[in-house]
Amino acid sequence: MATYAYLFKYIIIGDSGVGKSCFMLQFTDRRFKNNHDLTIGVEFGSRTIKVNDVSVKLQMWDTAGQESFKSITRSYYRGAIGALLLFDICNRQSFINLNKWLAETQTNGNPDIVITLVGNKTDLEAQRVVSQEEAKAYADLNNMIYIEASAKTAFNVDKTFVDSAGAILAAIGDGRI
Ligand code: GDP
Ligand code: MG
Repeated sequence: MATYAYLFKYIIIGDSGVGKSCFMLQFTDRRFKNNHDLTIGVEFGSRTIKVNDVSVKLQMWDTAGQESFKSITRSYYRGAIGALLLFDICNRQSFINLNKWLAETQTNGNPDIVITLVGNKTDLEAQRVVSQEEAKAYADLNNMIYIEASAKTAFNVDKTFVDSAGAILAAIGDGRI
């Protein structure tokens, strides 16, 4: 018997080095790794959370942010209802490249996919180069939730998933998806 009411497939996208693998690990295992292992192919993680008393199992697909993994793109996006689009608040190029990630999601993803923009590495506030206002404006323009978090300290990591899954549940409830 399933112990959850919904199963959502999530993809975690964004440039290499922004913290995708760490973000997933912090959410599933409450651990942080200081070294950057290049993710080869796809890695999976899952955790069941409560969102407004509804149990939702999140099945996450993490992949490397490299063009060379194009061959897995289609199966990677297939059936995904949620996407976390990460950038590093200390790395402007990772913010500029969000356009590229959005375009790829539009090409390969489900048209109803709910995308949450995550500004990661808030523990490195002193090195910030992308302001909260700028990122929020970009998210609003592209119909995304915006949240700032740290995969290192776990700040807002759970909240990212709860808010994002809540937005998906609301869309299902309204018949929007
Ligand atoms: P990925 O390529 O997007 O999967 O990035 P990783 O998860 O491998 O992280 C890349 C590097 O950034 C690693 O050295 C991590 O330890 C570091 N990192 C990830 N998240 C954070 C964070 O929130 N704060 C800090 N200070 N470092 C982080
Ligand atoms: Mg990785």
